Amino acid sequence: STMPPLLSAIANAGRHGVLAKSAVAMERLGQIDTVALDKTGTLTEGTPRVTDIRPLTGSGLSEDELLAFAAAAEHPSEHPLARAVVDAARERRLTLADADGFTSVPGQGVTATVESRTVQVGSPDRLLPAGGGRAHAVVQGLEDAGRTAVVVLIDGEPAGALGIADRLRPDAAATIAALTALTGRAPTLLTGDNERAARQLAAEVGITDVRAGLLPEDKVAAVRAWEQEGRRVLVVGDGVNDAPALAAAHTGIAMGKAGSDLALETADAVVVRDELATIPTVVRLSRTARRLVL
Ligand code: ADP
Ligand code: MG
Repeated sequence: STMPPLLSAIANAGRHGVLAKSAVAMERLGQIDTVALDKTGTLTEGTPRVTDIRPLTGSGLSEDELLAFAAAAEHPSEHPLARAVVDAARERRLTLADADGFTSVPGQGVTATVESRTVQVGSPDRLLPAGGGRAHAVVQGLEDAGRTAVVVLIDGEPAGALGIADRLRPDAAATIAALTALTGRAPTLLTGDNERAARQLAAEVGITDVRAGLLPEDKVAAVRAWEQEGRRVLVVGDGVNDAPALAAAHTGIAMGKAGSDLALETADAVVVRDELATIPTVVRLSRTARRLVL
């Protein structure tokens, strides 16, 4: 064909299920030497399920009542953990009260008013007061079992925790191996989730550099630090919390199926076919095209 190499690479990438947004985006993919991936929705399938419902004894709530408060507050959120909480409530056929004044903080959780009470759902690290207590013990138990724990606070008081588990994508380990071979260094995991859940999952795919408990701006700081060293970073993510890092990176790829609108808009390329293994493929396509251009 007489098509310019970068344009045929875009067409080829499309056939493999990756939408590159421009010739520049396609070209940049072949220049990367460092890869950082998000966990929930990126390395994992992004369809987590609630596995444990643990009201604290002092809360006076049943499992169903705790779940119903959490689901009502999470209902407006597009986060994969929020969808897990709402789905669990639906499975138990719970009636969800209306939520007012919903707000969400990326990397932390949500707040809403439900039945005139302030309900917060989110990260134990961010929402629990420091220094132990019953809620900490419950969270520790869940995290030791490899779960992502989210805590529920009602009017500022810890009321319980939910354990949530997500499956690794079947092609995650092979993709990490391929990206390691392409760049000469193993990818890094950047996650807002807890250290224990993150390490357990990372070990299964051959990642040892794990940065956990990160806020969106911490993901950006990690990317900037590498770029300062002259590295060219590829960030792969799906969430609102990943958008700033996708923008800061040399190039950003968003997972299309579970991806938030903001991540899809910010990324240079979108994985439409929902397979992680397409990423090393498009890096190779870009390198080949660049050789033909130069
Ligand atoms: P990741 O980087 O793994 O995709 P996020 O940054 O999206 O994770 O979230 C980090 C942590 O913040 C979660 O593990 C959870 O504890 C908390 N969190 C964020 N959003 C929500 C939400 N809508 N509901 C409950 N917890 C949340
Ligand atoms: Mg994510």
